[in-house]
Amino acid sequence: MRQDSAITTIKGIGAKTAEAFARMGVYTVGDILLRYPQNYVQYPKMRSVDEISAGMNAVSVRVKKTPVTRSGRKMQVTVLAAEGEKEKLELVWYRMPYIKNTLTVGRFYVFYGKIAEKSGKYVMEQPAVYEPEKYQGMQDCFFPVYGLTAGITNNLMIKTLSAALSDDMLFSDYLPASIRSAGELCEYNYAMKQIHFPDTMDTLITARRRLVFDEFFLFILGMQYRKRKQERGESAAVFHEPEFVDRLKEKLPFALTGAQERALSDMQNDMSGRYMMQRLIQGDVGSGKTVLAFLMMAWASHNGFQSAIMAPTEVLARQHYDSFIDMSERFGLHFPVVLLTGSMTARQKRSARERLMLYENAMVIGTHALIQEQVDYANLALVITDEQHRFGVRQRDTFAEKGLFPHILVMSATPIPRTLAIILYGDLDISVVDEVPARRLPVKNCVVGVGYRPKAYDFIAEQVRMGHQAYVVCPLVEASENMEGENVNDYALHLLSVLGPDIVVGVLHGKLKNDKKNEIMEQFAKNEIQVLVSTTVVEVGVNVPNATVMMIENAERFGLAQLHQLRGRVGRGDAQSYCIMVNTSDAGSAKKRLEILNRSNDGFFIAGEDLKLRGPGDFFGIRQSGEIMFRLADIYQDAEVLQRASQAAKQILDEDPSLSADENAGLREQMDRFEREQLSRMNL
Ligand code: ADP
Ligand code: MG
Repeated sequence: MRQDSAITTIKGIGAKTAEAFARMGVYTVGDILLRYPQNYVQYPKMRSVDEISAGMNAVSVRVKKTPVTRSGRKMQVTVLAAEGEKEKLELVWYRMPYIKNTLTVGRFYVFYGKIAEKSGKYVMEQPAVYEPEKYQGMQDCFFPVYGLTAGITNNLMIKTLSAALSDDMLFSDYLPASIRSAGELCEYNYAMKQIHFPDTMDTLITARRRLVFDEFFLFILGMQYRKRKQERGESAAVFHEPEFVDRLKEKLPFALTGAQERALSDMQNDMSGRYMMQRLIQGDVGSGKTVLAFLMMAWASHNGFQSAIMAPTEVLARQHYDSFIDMSERFGLHFPVVLLTGSMTARQKRSARERLMLYENAMVIGTHALIQEQVDYANLALVITDEQHRFGVRQRDTFAEKGLFPHILVMSATPIPRTLAIILYGDLDISVVDEVPARRLPVKNCVVGVGYRPKAYDFIAEQVRMGHQAYVVCPLVEASENMEGENVNDYALHLLSVLGPDIVVGVLHGKLKNDKKNEIMEQFAKNEIQVLVSTTVVEVGVNVPNATVMMIENAERFGLAQLHQLRGRVGRGDAQSYCIMVNTSDAGSAKKRLEILNRSNDGFFIAGEDLKLRGPGDFFGIRQSGEIMFRLADIYQDAEVLQRASQAAKQILDEDPSLSADENAGLREQMDRFEREQLSRMNL
């Protein structure tokens, strides 16, 4: 078996299962090994009935009597009563009368499930049943929990992965021994085994460290390798008349912040200079990056060039399109503005593509659809990517294949310290937009318990009466057996009945078709929907300045950086805005974390504090950066590994800049594989 062997070479995987795997993008042995667990569960220690408490439990019980099955109105209920010296526990199964046959009177069993207190007594519903010896063995292990799709169960993942990993030397470790020992990194096959099936917490940490290192290392190596190979390209599109931009600036309804001005002049210098621009604009949510993009694109049109801005979602692309049309009107500009997204009809797309060929000074707005093969540009000189850092840089190659060498601008709201930015974006120049427009009132925050909900609904209704709008964010789309928490569908129904017929409630989540999403978002932008109940799909970049309330349910479930991004959706207009975080956990730690958001509006500070509170061992919780570049690595908590990986990459390239030495063959192969894998994850 090799990394690139088809998944069907694993014993027990037939054509049908392979099809299901293909749907989740898994084709080879290597692919499935990279589907790391999302979490691990450890079974709780066995307890006696007297030791139980609410929550997940494993209770050891001697069965004294055969359980009784009653036929209730809706279904059959099987009950087994268990008694300790002090406590009583009722074990209940629904629609499972046959459970009786698995239990022998007089013997001990372990019942595993969630215990709730119901009218003064303890009840465990639908417990799983184990022989005590079997449970004893399970108790010592970590069980991986995987992300799944239809047709793929967690058990199937476990079976498939353990079969794949039974091959002892699946990989030959491509990292030079010197780097491994300097970085205190374990061997690769071992790391793979331990990340899927850890023996202990320590081996899991060791394994993760190695795999995180590899992600950073291969990423930086690829980037630096390319950077050394290609000399800085001379610009094929020199922009003239920077005064044009200054004139537009004067017509803006607001004055640019100092930070915006600095970024602007950086870009003006780049694009009127001799070399191609490759710049990152880094600025917290709400720092006003879009207007900068518009000014640069208008400048391109003024110079007779085409420019394109690529957004990560359809919703955002349409929003940019609308605001570009608005701004064009305000400035009295008549440059063609073209929208091209994946969800447009074939006819609309064809017409958009025709305009791209026709209008040599068009401003083009869209999603990934902009770089598909069939799309040709007449005169493309500037490409901007919004909220997708690496994406933009990778485009260079795609465009180069089409014979295009545009200036590249990447805009990002991920708050990271400069030292890390220089490593991660080492191939870019960086402008930091570290000021938020002063005119804006800071968002007022509160962290509340579930008891506050009715008040929150009143508050939302009041804001709507004043002409404003609200977001309500829930962690789930629909009710789920495995996960507790509010879900968008039920919540919207509930709000509908609470808020009454005068307030329109809309629903938005990732499972909706793109057309539907666009429609909902447009309605919200036009205030045809007043309250939008949504998952975190509203997180990235959406701008509806009229929205003044962001209510977040199960706030403790989200990473602080993510909450900060969500909060950034309000406070974008002149009116006072509010962020209501509903904490549904009793844990003191949850409260403490949310307090940080309550106190600060500074994205970088928040990310750092969150990390301190959670502690570096707590790395399987929520990832900080929401960065899709890496599967495991987190730029905040793995900052130390990032530094090491950067040094290692530099050392290797200093010795062998073209990576052509024999001993580096494996390294190159992995570097290319990593890049292909990253691109496919970005859906390219
Ligand atoms: P982000 O950096 O998160 O992409 P946006 O570009 O969406 O932020 O800007 C958020 C809002 O702030 C927009 O409504 C925009 O018109 C407004 N804005 C941008 N710059 C300024 C400024 N200098 N003064 C006042 N408002 C501004
Ligand atoms: Mg933005």
